[in-house]
Amino acid sequence: MRGTMPRILPLAVLFVVFYVSASWAASGSVYDNFVQCLNTKANSSSSTPLANIVFAQNNPSYTSVLRAYIRNSRFNKTSTPKPVLIVTPLAESHVQASVLCAKQLGIQLKIRSGGHDYEGVSYWSDQTFIVLDMFNLRSITVDIKDGSVWAQAGATLGEMYYRIWEKSKVHGFPAGVCETVGVGGHISGGGYGNMLRKYGLAVDNVIDAQIVDVQGRLLDRKSMGEDLFWAIKGGGGGSFGVIISYKLKLVSVPEIVTVFRVERTLEENATAVVLKWQEVAPTTDDGLFLRMLLQPVTSKVKKGEKTVRISILAEFLGNADQLVSLLGKEFPELGLKKENCMEMSWIDSMLWWANFDNGTKPEALLNRNPNDANFLKRKSDYVQTPISKDGLEWLWKKMIELGKTGLVFNPYGGKMSQIPASETPFPHRAGNLFKIQYSVNWEDAGEDLEKNYLTQSRRLYSYMTPFVSKNPRSAFLNYRDLDIGINTFGDNSYEEGKVYGLMYFNDNFDRLLKVKTAVDPENFFRNEQSIPTLPNGNSDVNSWSSSNLPMGKLFVLLICLLIGAQKSNGHGLPAGSCPTVGVGGHISGGGFGIIFRKYGLAADNVIDSRIVDVNGRILSRKSMGEELFWAIRGGGGSSFAVILAWKLRLVPVPPSVTVCKIEKTIEEGVTDKLHEDLFLHLVVEVANEAGATDGKTIKVSFDLLFLGPVEKLLLLMQDKFRT
Ligand SMILES: Cc1cc2nc3c(=O)[nH]c(=O)nc-3n(C[C@H](O)[C@H](O)[C@H](O)COP(=O)(O)OP(=O)(O)OC[C@H]3O[C@@H](n4cnc5c(N)ncnc54)[C@H](O)[C@@H]3O)c2cc1C
Repeated sequence: MRGTMPRILPLAVLFVVFYVSASWAASGSVYDNFVQCLNTKANSSSSTPLANIVFAQNNPSYTSVLRAYIRNSRFNKTSTPKPVLIVTPLAESHVQASVLCAKQLGIQLKIRSGGHDYEGVSYWSDQTFIVLDMFNLRSITVDIKDGSVWAQAGATLGEMYYRIWEKSKVHGFPAGVCETVGVGGHISGGGYGNMLRKYGLAVDNVIDAQIVDVQGRLLDRKSMGEDLFWAIKGGGGGSFGVIISYKLKLVSVPEIVTVFRVERTLEENATAVVLKWQEVAPTTDDGLFLRMLLQPVTSKVKKGEKTVRISILAEFLGNADQLVSLLGKEFPELGLKKENCMEMSWIDSMLWWANFDNGTKPEALLNRNPNDANFLKRKSDYVQTPISKDGLEWLWKKMIELGKTGLVFNPYGGKMSQIPASETPFPHRAGNLFKIQYSVNWEDAGEDLEKNYLTQSRRLYSYMTPFVSKNPRSAFLNYRDLDIGINTFGDNSYEEGKVYGLMYFNDNFDRLLKVKTAVDPENFFRNEQSIPTLPNGNSDVNSWSSSNLPMGKLFVLLICLLIGAQKSNGHGLPAGSCPTVGVGGHISGGGFGIIFRKYGLAADNVIDSRIVDVNGRILSRKSMGEELFWAIRGGGGSSFAVILAWKLRLVPVPPSVTVCKIEKTIEEGVTDKLHEDLFLHLVVEVANEAGATDGKTIKVSFDLLFLGPVEKLLLLMQDKFRT
């Protein structure tokens, strides 16, 4: 359990550093130029000189300001890249000016609110960067009559819960259970808590927002428009602008709620409890949230052996009698008794979930600076079909073998299943039984230790593959995981973004791309996993293969290729190279071509389709449904319907590519580690050769296409393929 006293110190340090005079300013030009720019662009009525809100690296307070909101010690090392400046705005106008000045100086801007990003992307970067630290912008205005609260980005969830509780004991807000998480990152990333089955996510309860866009304009819902407003409700704020505040709808909470924590080990029949939990937790009363933690621990029964312990933690929007009666009927395997339960006010339950000692006063939620920043690694998954008994028993073995990484199962269902997947960028709604968080924390620094724990969590993630969502394997943005892909902001930014973007946002990724391209075409707001812009800033990259063409010509692949070439010399289609092959059969059979190493099969790039089904109906993707749409992309069209047309995603190709043909007789093998831009087609044949004993040898012809210039190709071939 956590004490509260030591938390006060860092905050005091912040107040002190805030008034340090500008004489500590760096002599470096970035600081000078930035402050000068701020002075011209900020329309500030504040009496504080703007130089005082900017911390350069040689300011003695720089390190304490930077560290005050680092919540993962993995990114608090001397080797972690540091910002050239930290800017701590006191007013919206400072944020507006900071955006314009960072843009003017051509420096990346990272935005930090509570600093809880699991991969620290709000305060480190491989590029030269500035941190815009929002901790001073943290006002909270609760309006019980209106049933709403305006919370600024730099406020913490604990502060928000406390301010709501001050005004009403029967109102609350459905967001996360860690009191120091920041409003800015939490809500823009989807934000969920222990009332999600009753009220959905935090983003399902956003009414309005204020954002500073790339042009430095302060916009609200009306002036930003519904597309951008949609995007910042789960698409990650850091891709679109600086969130200043959210207006949130308060929800009702009863005067008494009930919590409990019940633990079982494998020796105490935990497997049966987990099996039943998968059935009950996602379907029970919407007011009941049953989180389950699964952890390898030392067995108390079998000396020297390890076991798995499960802990079920509950929040119930009702009293203990109701809860015991409900679970007695639905979940007798748990054996819940009234003495396992604690009745309390909703605000006390938030303290309980945040691991404060019983009896801790709600004021503890105002403390912004915990003193327990561990080393952390998180990953996530979604489970759509229950894991079988055999599966669980296999999983226990693997968890015990790995030794430390735990799993947290968070049940969905209830309100989560009623909200359409496209309502917000967060797509993981109906059909998901529960979300898994992979969780490993450790206290001691050390490269080997860190490597070991990171490897453990990755192994467990890999072991879980058969049990979790597929195509795509989904993930939760707020559980940021750089293992699933990183954007390097180069020529492949769009392709790189697609890898993690589809996992986080599934089908909503396309709309996020369009919003991003429209509001920030130069990709100023970016981080390692932000939404990229569409290639060439062209939001019209998708085209129907039948567009404006007479039906008779529809099934000729060449037409398709020509559409790409005529409309844009920067786009192509990853399909076969024989121009007379028909589109219908080619793509419904999978369709492979010479840029498939880069962009996959033609079928991987189908966005929509029109077919005539056995009932003579003309159907699109939406009306045919995802099962049939899946089947016709590689399962052979003729088994299912008549394909009329495909809508295909065009892919970027450079204006000139390199082709060559080499013929050689060789014995050596071919490396499988070729660059993805390179396609190498090998024809191996028996040939006549003077000098060979029987006059025969093997001749290999290499046909090659490279998406780039010949100079780059030669370097690549020297590096990878000397022979
Ligand atoms: C201990 C702990 C407990 C957690 N519990 C929960 C939980 O119960 N439920 C849940 O959903 N998540 C939970 N999380 C995850 C958390 O919600 C996310 O990490 C969230 O992004 C953190 O927000 P932040 O403002 O604190 O983080 P930051 O690190 O400041 O920001 C996270 C991301 O949001 C961007 N961002 C931050 N502020 C702004 C802004 N004002 N404008 C635009 N972009 C911005 C950042 O650039 C960064 O990309 C938890 C994390 C931790 C460490």
